[in-house]
Amino acid sequence: MGSRGELPLDDSLSRVSEEVNQCTRCPLSETRTNAVPGEGPPNARVVIIGEGPGRNEDAQGRPFVGAAGKQLDSLLAHARLERADVYITNIVKCRPPENRRPTTSEADACDPYLKRQLGLLAPDVVVLLGDSAMKRFLPDETLATAHGRLFKTSRFELFPTYHPAAMIYNRSLESVTREDFRSLGEHLSSLWKKAGR
Ligand code: URA
Ligand code: SF4
Repeated sequence: MGSRGELPLDDSLSRVSEEVNQCTRCPLSETRTNAVPGEGPPNARVVIIGEGPGRNEDAQGRPFVGAAGKQLDSLLAHARLERADVYITNIVKCRPPENRRPTTSEADACDPYLKRQLGLLAPDVVVLLGDSAMKRFLPDETLATAHGRLFKTSRFELFPTYHPAAMIYNRSLESVTREDFRSLGEHLSSLWKKAGR
């Protein structure tokens, strides 16, 4: 487990979720039905980060449960991963009205929750779905050239790829994104073989 920095020693994923559910740190709290903290096992080695909850997620308080969620499940299968293996969350935990892109100030306000989640999970790989998520971690990259590549940081590897919702509107992205997930799966299996997992 890497350095926890300034994080409280008794922090936990469920505590982060409880705080998110009560959060009023940004204006998205005023229009949400339910906050969507994220979900997955505390020992997940892979974290998936989307942009923000949509209508279905806002209604249910769970990430990626609508059409984009179906796409995500099928992409995960290409990496030989199941939803139950990964931790899934978003840059902002409350739905932006009309599904607009979160503003920088909303994303900044929500960032401490994501940081704590990543600190607690200490994953091997963080998958960044779409431009919003990628830009938070790799501000100088563009998806067209960065997708499907691994970027090492001191704590984990970043793997940007297209957002599953983008595939619904642009079918040509589907085969590219599937290929990204296939190569992610290969990378994970060699990583875990080396680690003896
Ligand atoms: N799109 C996202 O970015 N996140 C979700 O949770 C659902 C759709
Ligand atoms: Fe709080 Fe994040 Fe929701 Fe804004 S989006 S109210 S910072 S949990």
